[in-house]
Amino acid sequence: MNILRFTNLPGDGIGPEVMSVALKVLETLGQRNGFSIETTEHDVGGIGIDNHGSALPDTTLSACKDANAILFGSVGGPKWESLPPKEQPERAALLPIRKAFELFANLRPGNLYPELADLSPLRPSTVSNGIDVLCVRELTGGIYFGQPKSTQTLENGEEQSIDTMVYKTSEIERITEIAVKAASLRQKKICSVDKANVLETSVLWRKVVSDSVQRLDPSIELTHMYVDNAAMQLVRDPNQFDVLVTENMFGDILSDELAVICGSLGMLASASLGTGKNRLGFPFGLYEPAGGTAPDIAGKNLANPCAQVLSAALMLRYSFGMEKEASAIESAVKQTIRDGFRSGDISSGSESVGTIEMGEAIIERLPA
Ligand code: NAD
Repeated sequence: MNILRFTNLPGDGIGPEVMSVALKVLETLGQRNGFSIETTEHDVGGIGIDNHGSALPDTTLSACKDANAILFGSVGGPKWESLPPKEQPERAALLPIRKAFELFANLRPGNLYPELADLSPLRPSTVSNGIDVLCVRELTGGIYFGQPKSTQTLENGEEQSIDTMVYKTSEIERITEIAVKAASLRQKKICSVDKANVLETSVLWRKVVSDSVQRLDPSIELTHMYVDNAAMQLVRDPNQFDVLVTENMFGDILSDELAVICGSLGMLASASLGTGKNRLGFPFGLYEPAGGTAPDIAGKNLANPCAQVLSAALMLRYSFGMEKEASAIESAVKQTIRDGFRSGDISSGSESVGTIEMGEAIIERLPA
């Protein structure tokens, strides 16, 4: 029997509630499809600080290193907000994990089901058929990490700050490879976003993306778009895109724009893939909901578990190579929404169900 070995790090706030649903979904799907899950749970974030004095305890990090993937909840909350910024759960847990596993590719599916179209701030005529776009963001390069990065006082007394945007061919090649793989499971269309009319790094970006797509899979339809235009086109007609691939800062902004046009954080999953392969030969990855710990609703059975469940589906797709099973989970979530089950965040004020009930509805809709 195929055994899926991964660590689960529920974290804080709603993390444990939605993680419990995702694990039940995986267990049930496994029982019906001939695989089992072998997962260990570890503290991360605020609960890591409380129990071990660190947002990323050594035991948690070494368990992650022994696993094939990480299923992550979310971290942080008011209890830890007075800590110095560097010690706060999100920064002190997620950044070191990204570094330890060189998580260079961030995949953010922007999915809005037609049944939830009224949650989108876009015109009904634009989103009546839903939205299905995947944003692939380079996560470890560009202006956020380039050197020099400094602030200095000039001779005339004013201050001057410098950030440096820098990309190497190899960094662009590897993110393009991820975009090509993702596109090959979808409509085989990639739009690469840059600012090649102004930035040197974007001129290189455009050239390397073109060469890489040509080398990896010339049947992919590749287009290029300036980032200012892409930001406009996303709100004008999001479904003109299949896969967007872009550098770190542009991806940071565009992926959040995509999230907001899809209506609810409770529905959105994400994957961050590393440079290394796991023992199965697939990319090591961290899979987590796009939203945070939602302290306003934590512990009340009000959280929407879909984002965490869909993150588990991404884990099957990318770190275990189980496309059929990943799609089965996505279909079950879609059918749950189609059948009218709504958690509070997506109910538009009408009747809603709790986290547990939403999870049970998803499980009932998994293939027999
Ligand atoms: P948030 O995403 O936690 O909440 C924003 C709003 O969305 C809230 O009204 C919340 O109730 C709602 N929401 C989010 N996920 C939901 C879900 N699954 N079901 C229903 N409603 C949901 O953002 P925030 O309030 O800015 O941050 C709260 C805490 O989460 C902070 O401590 C922040 O640092 C942390 N955070 C962590 C991560 C992470 O772990 N990756 C990401 C973002 C925020």
